[in-house]
Amino acid sequence: MSRSGQIHVIGAGLAGLAAAVRLAAGGQRVIIHEAANQAGGRCRSYHDGTLGMAIDNGNHLVLSGNRATLDYLEVIGTRDRLVGPDAPEFAFVDLATGERWTLRLSEGLIPWWIFDAKRRVPGTKPLDYLSGARLLWAGADKTIAQTMHCGGTLYRRLWQPVLLAALNTDPAEASARLAGAVVRETLAAGGRACRPLIAYDGLTEAFIDPALRFVEGKAGAIRYGARLRALGFAEQRAESLDFGEQVEQLGADDAVVLAVPPWIAAGLVPDLTTPSEFRAIVNAHFAVAPPAGLPPMIGVINGTVEWIFAFRDRVSTTISGADRLLDAPREELAQTIWQEVAKVAGISGAMPRWQLIKERRATFAALPDENRKRPGAATSYANMVLAGDWTATGLPGTIEGAIRSGNRAADLVRDQLDQRDR
Ligand SMILES: Cc1cc2nc3c(=O)[nH]c(=O)nc-3n(C[C@H](O)[C@H](O)[C@H](O)COP(=O)(O)OP(=O)(O)OC[C@H]3O[C@@H](n4cnc5c(N)ncnc54)[C@H](O)[C@@H]3O)c2cc1C
Repeated sequence: MSRSGQIHVIGAGLAGLAAAVRLAAGGQRVIIHEAANQAGGRCRSYHDGTLGMAIDNGNHLVLSGNRATLDYLEVIGTRDRLVGPDAPEFAFVDLATGERWTLRLSEGLIPWWIFDAKRRVPGTKPLDYLSGARLLWAGADKTIAQTMHCGGTLYRRLWQPVLLAALNTDPAEASARLAGAVVRETLAAGGRACRPLIAYDGLTEAFIDPALRFVEGKAGAIRYGARLRALGFAEQRAESLDFGEQVEQLGADDAVVLAVPPWIAAGLVPDLTTPSEFRAIVNAHFAVAPPAGLPPMIGVINGTVEWIFAFRDRVSTTISGADRLLDAPREELAQTIWQEVAKVAGISGAMPRWQLIKERRATFAALPDENRKRPGAATSYANMVLAGDWTATGLPGTIEGAIRSGNRAADLVRDQLDQRDR
C-alpha cells in the first residue's frame, strides 16, 4: 500500500540505503539525498586511475552470521555476489616464525575444532580457549584487557587479530561488551555463522547499485550532490531541509531518516551526543594477479599487514586501528607492505603498480566511553529518526551494524506514521 507522506533519507551509505530499501519495499515514497556524487559512503567501489581498475575503498569482510546483511542482499537480489569458502576456514601465517596454518572451525555449536591440534591455533591447548568466553558476559564499562588475559599465543594468533578486525580498535582498550556481541553472533554461534564472505566483484556491485535500482523501481529517487546544510525544527518536528541552493519544506506526513556520519549529525541536530573518537583503516592494493593457490584471505601475524585478500586482478591488504600509519610516507609504507605480501604470496620482482587508501575516520573507536555516547534511533522530534553504524546498535562500526540501524530507523518511521494515522 502506498502512503501519502514522503520519507527523506539523508545519506546514501549502507544505513541510509537499508532504511530506503525497507521503506520502499513497504510502499513508502522515498527520496535519498546524498552529498557526494556517488552512493555507498564508506563502503563503495571506484575506478582507480593509478591502478587502471575498479577497486573498493576498503576490503570488507562479512561473516555468514551477519543475518541482517544477508537479508538485505536477498531483498535487493545480490545474495550470490558475496562469495567465500564452503567451510568456516581461515588461513594464517606468522611472519616471525614462518609457520602457516588453517583454522578449521566446526560447523555446529559444539567447538570440536578446539580439541583437534590440526584444526586449532598451533601452540595452544583446548583450555586456553575458555578465556574468550568471558567476553560474553562482560560489563558495559569493561575493556577487553579487564575481561580476559591479553597475552600469550592464543591471544596473539587469534583474539588479537580477529577482535582488531571486528572492532577497528586495539582490543586491549576496546569495549568487552562490543567484542562479546561479535563473539556471540559468530564464534559462539558455531562455524555456520563464521564463513567469511567477500564481494569479489566489488562493493558497489553487491551492496549499493542494486539497492538504488530497487528503490528506484518502487518509485523512489536519489539526488547526488545534495548536502544537507541545516534542519529547521518547530514544535518538536523537523520542518525543513536546507540544501543551500534549495530549501525543502516538510509536509505533515513527511519524515526524515538522518543517516549521515556522527560529526555531521552532531552539527545538524541540537543537543545530540555522538561518538567523537575514531580509528583509521589503511588499505593497500597491488595490481598483480594472485599466484595460484593463494587463499582468498590470509591473516598475517607479526607483520605490518594484518589481512591479505586475493582478488582476480589484484592483491589487497588491510591494516585496522592504523592511526600510527597515517603520517607515514606513502611510498615507504607501500614498500613495507609489498615486501610482506611478496613473502606471504611467494611473488618475486619489483613492486607492481600500487594504491594506498588511508581512511582516517573509518569507524568510531570501539571504546567503552564511546559506546556509551551512541544515541538510539529515536530523537526528540516526532518525524525524525537516526541511522548509522555509530548509533546504538550493540555492534561495532560494521556493515551489519549499519544495515540493522537502517532497518530499525525504517521500522520506527513506519510506527510513527501508523500512530498519526490512528
Ligand atoms: C576502509 C574500511 C574498511 C572497512 N571494513 C569493514 C569490514 O571488513 N566489515 C564490515 O562489516 N565493515 C567494515 N567497514 C565499516 C563499514 O564500511 C561501515 O560500518 C558502513 O559502511 C557505514 O555505513 P553508514 O551508512 O553508517 O555510514 P557512511 O557510509 O559514512 O554513510 C554516510 C553517508 O552520508 C553522506 N553524507 C554526509 N554528510 C551528508 C550531508 N550533510 N548531506 C547528505 N549526505 C551526507 C556521506 O557522503 C555518506 O554517503 C569498513 C570501513 C572502512 C572505511
